[in-house]
Amino acid sequence: MKNQNLFSPCKLCPRNCGADRKYKKGFCRSGIYPIVARADLHMWEEPCITGKNGSGAVFFSGCNLGCVFCQNYQISHNGTGEEITDRKLADIFLMLKEKGAENINLVNPVHFTPNIINALDIVKDKLGIPVIWNSGGYEKKETIRLLSGYIDIFLPDLKYITPELSEKYSGARDYFKAASEAIDEMLALAGYPVFDNEGKMIKGVLVRHLILPSHLRETKLIIDYLSNTYDKSKFWISLMSQYVPFYKAFDYPEISRKLTTLESQRAAEYAGEKGLIHGFCQDISAAGDKYVPEFFNKLPF
Ligand code: SF4
Repeated sequence: MKNQNLFSPCKLCPRNCGADRKYKKGFCRSGIYPIVARADLHMWEEPCITGKNGSGAVFFSGCNLGCVFCQNYQISHNGTGEEITDRKLADIFLMLKEKGAENINLVNPVHFTPNIINALDIVKDKLGIPVIWNSGGYEKKETIRLLSGYIDIFLPDLKYITPELSEKYSGARDYFKAASEAIDEMLALAGYPVFDNEGKMIKGVLVRHLILPSHLRETKLIIDYLSNTYDKSKFWISLMSQYVPFYKAFDYPEISRKLTTLESQRAAEYAGEKGLIHGFCQDISAAGDKYVPEFFNKLPF
């Protein structure tokens, strides 16, 4: 396997576990082969990503974060999925293209960066559709640099700015430092956003922020950071109101409910006031578990 040295010791993400993943899994519960829980057309991304036919989403198992409200906990924390080779991953990309996918959407990819590069080396010339890095934001700039020439669109989360909050809910006190540096690097790699005639994103950065109930102040801090730090035409923003309490969220009373309409509206208004007009504010009606994909123990192909 190419790029195997990146797993031994593994320092691909800010956890810096140093695990030799040939023999031992790190915090992300992953070895040296990619584990995929679902690969199919996905209709629930932002319109510029979903397009007409759907995004070709590949959901990877394991995670380098420990979010207590994780909506994909079955795969992030419980390990649902099938271990495959890098070549099979390349075949999955081609299968999604043949099904009509608008793009290849790598969901939660960080801990499998070397496998993804290997798979794209096999098929990138045959794909002809954008490849999306759809990540939680807890990443290292050095790892993002490895993606130069492979990734067209970056879709990072920016979940928190306050270290106490990121530690409490995701077990990562250094989340904002890592995520902000990663976004800097993504912007440097992708450049200004480009869209086709139908409004589909071809390249660029779309920063996502999931508004947490009772934490409008944190959302406003993130909006302030983005509007004060970057050229506003260089990235798009997606404010997501889809929060539904899952997994261990019920242990935290303040996040054990859905967002209110008022919280969602105030966040959208504040983004507008700060000039973040390029992007999306998800309708509060999207908050339902019907948008959480089912995951399989066996891949559906
Ligand atoms: S990718 Fe996994 S093993 Fe590697 S440093 Fe991050 S959490 Fe640890």
